[in-house]
Amino acid sequence: MLAYQTVPVTPFQQNCSIVWCGATRQAAVIDPGGELPRIEAAARELGVELAQIWLTHAHIDHAGGAGELARRLGLPIVGPHPGDQFWIDGLAEQSRMFGFPAAEPFTPARWLADGDTVTVGRETLAVRHCPGHTPGHVVFHAPGAKRAFVGDVLFAGSIGRTDFPGGNHAQLIASIRERLWPMGDDTVFVPGHGPESSFGAERRFNPFVRG
Ligand SMILES: [Zn+2]
Ligand SMILES: [Zn+2]
Repeated sequence: MLAYQTVPVTPFQQNCSIVWCGATRQAAVIDPGGELPRIEAAARELGVELAQIWLTHAHIDHAGGAGELARRLGLPIVGPHPGDQFWIDGLAEQSRMFGFPAAEPFTPARWLADGDTVTVGRETLAVRHCPGHTPGHVVFHAPGAKRAFVGDVLFAGSIGRTDFPGGNHAQLIASIRERLWPMGDDTVFVPGHGPESSFGAERRFNPFVRG
């Protein structure tokens, strides 16, 4: 079974998630935006081995720590979709703009596309490309565990901002309706910020996407 623990990091309280295979205790860390010692301490306490870094998108609060963590632990960076290359190229500028520690540059070992899968231990998650908040945003879906890690696409009661370069409101709404809703009403999602919710609850109550 897939298990996970969320560690909010950075001044933006970004939900970094450690996801692992219960059988092998191999883990992937989704969106290590910063505060790497806290993430590494959580992995040690859980008794899991960090083996990969998966990125939903390349905003500083999600990707700011990825380069350093990859270099120090020798981990591959998987994702996001190539549409976010310009955000990776701009990480240094994002660091300065938001007062974050300087982000180490990196090149993903593997880019992701819609329909891809990622595997940690014996667990496989599906990748959906969900542009709108950023052009290269992806989400990770674990159908067996009925969980999805959606970054800044959808939040409990809200949706991602689309006023950054490359943002597109209509595209974001389409990503949510066409690529998240089919995962099922009973699927619980971990958003990039704030509490978890289910797609069913958002379909009923989220004023941006209900109905
Ligand atoms: Zn973002
Ligand atoms: Zn964010």
